[in-house]
Amino acid sequence: MKITSQLEKILEKAWCHVPLDRQDCKYLLSIDEKSFESGVLRAAAASIIREKNDNSAIIIGQIGVDVTPCPGGCKFCTFGEDHTNFESSHLGEDELRQKIADFCKYDDLYALYLMTMHTYDLERYLQTIESAKKLVPETTQIWANVGDTGLDAFKEMKKIGVTGVYHVCRIGEGIDTKLDPQDRLQTMRNALDAGLELYTCCEPIGPEHTVDQLVDNIFIGIEMGITQHAAMRRVAVPGSPLARYGQISELRLAHIVAVISLCSITVPTMAYMGVHEPNTLSYAAGANIVTAESGANPRDCQSDTAKNRGMDMARCRKMLFECGFTNIRKGDESKIPLDLNYLIETDSLD
Ligand code: SF4
Repeated sequence: MKITSQLEKILEKAWCHVPLDRQDCKYLLSIDEKSFESGVLRAAAASIIREKNDNSAIIIGQIGVDVTPCPGGCKFCTFGEDHTNFESSHLGEDELRQKIADFCKYDDLYALYLMTMHTYDLERYLQTIESAKKLVPETTQIWANVGDTGLDAFKEMKKIGVTGVYHVCRIGEGIDTKLDPQDRLQTMRNALDAGLELYTCCEPIGPEHTVDQLVDNIFIGIEMGITQHAAMRRVAVPGSPLARYGQISELRLAHIVAVISLCSITVPTMAYMGVHEPNTLSYAAGANIVTAESGANPRDCQSDTAKNRGMDMARCRKMLFECGFTNIRKGDESKIPLDLNYLIETDSLD
């Protein structure tokens, strides 16, 4: 069976580390995810990404440190102020210590995200970073996942040990959210200007989004110079206004992961590729970041996602093993061989 000459040409470029352009991206996204060609595309992306980093993957932990009815008002998020059922709460010192102890028990957490709502108390957040920094091993980085933030605040975060920032200008920003796309983009630039790494994501992808919308969103990160890219499908959270559109399949998500992997691999700073939520098809299509989650999560109705949608460290290790990765990287890029013995030693077998 043959693939089209256009797909062959694009894959040839990717194998030779020639950057893919928007037209290439558009063509790849237009391929049916159920087709033979999608299978070839997903296999090529996985192979190129794995070859680049010695078949390694990373596990990151995310802790939601604040819950408030959020003025971001995102129509897909469980915390949007117009539709949330959550009361305000903040993670205490003891809970933080316990969650970090769980994540770091076997010293194989690459990085820890501390996540807030769109508006947050900077002083309290900086204190949380300082506490977390003392609790994690030296080989675990601390990352920020915060609302729109100025240059000075990011400089403060960098000074006390934050390595990078997750931030996105979402598909439908300003329409499906109450936030200004320009503010989102400026925050991304602020993070880079403060000397922090930038991690972004094409999100939240729903069945109604066009290929052109996806291309525009994917290239925001590519053109800024990200260290990580990712794809996230929108979860039809019950009660959120966009739940009526439904969800794309994990197969379609894996197809998009493959496209983003190939389009971003040539960005000089690009290191790892994520997917939300973790799924095996995407780890066979270029993704190599898995996220363990605890506390608040915009895709979950439970106040502690570890009890519902969120995956724990053991499930993350097992998923990476089942998807054929042979190394887990720590935050200093050192490698731990990922094999059956490691799963046994870390209590990660079912
Ligand atoms: S996605 Fe973030 S900014 Fe939007 S409502 Fe949820 S917590 Fe707020």
